[in-house]
Amino acid sequence: MGGFKDYDYFSRNKKMWDKIMEERQMYSIEKIIICDDCKGRGIIERERLTDYHNGLYDYWDEKCEKCKGSGRLLEIVEVTTTPFKIPKKRKKG
Ligand SMILES: [Zn+2]
Repeated sequence: MGGFKDYDYFSRNKKMWDKIMEERQMYSIEKIIICDDCKGRGIIERERLTDYHNGLYDYWDEKCEKCKGSGRLLEIVEVTTTPFKIPKKRKKG
């Protein structure tokens, strides 16, 4: 009974969807940024109190885990654009 109707409905929606996807433009912007964890140094300074009474510390550097020691990160921004449809003016009643 409703078989043909359903088929039309879905094929119409598919066409609409295909058109929407066809109009979309996708691209990505890549940018090298300074690592915010290590401030671009690639290392994190660590310290540990070894002698409480004399206030002595041990200092050492650790490789920054976020940027793996490069001090930089690759920032990737995925962008999608689609045509803006200007809304139709409503007729004054
Ligand atoms: Zn880092």
